[in-house]
Amino acid sequence: MRLLEESGIGITEETGNMISGFQAFLKGKCPQCRTGNLFVGSLFSKKFRAVHTNCPHCHVKFESEPGFFWGAMYFSYALVVATVIIVSVIIYSIQEEPPLMSTSIIVIGISLILTPLHLRLSRLLMVYIAAPYRKFKKELV
Ligand SMILES: [Zn+2]
Repeated sequence: MRLLEESGIGITEETGNMISGFQAFLKGKCPQCRTGNLFVGSLFSKKFRAVHTNCPHCHVKFESEPGFFWGAMYFSYALVVATVIIVSVIIYSIQEEPPLMSTSIIVIGISLILTPLHLRLSRLLMVYIAAPYRKFKKELV
């Protein structure tokens, strides 16, 4: 544990505390060291989907092969479908027979608003689930 702290693995710069893999996922951190940021900008910036080429902390290459992040399309598709289903269920539970046109507009509008979040989450899922370098240190879990 002390060795990990000395090397800086999984320790946030702000607090000095170690974070779990799930916290690192939610914060958009590198899956390897859980310290470096995966994304260049914030969710609300113009570069919301830009990913660093290498981890700023441990220098692991995020895009392990050309077109690696194309696989994130599948995660993005699943997230959009889940959003459509959840919003539709909520609308149909509030109102018995809502008009199809207004329901469609609401569902499409919410899906469009959540697009930046879906893009970031799909890239995070791609890195955390499918990346070959994803090896959590047992000491950090
Ligand atoms: Zn890293």
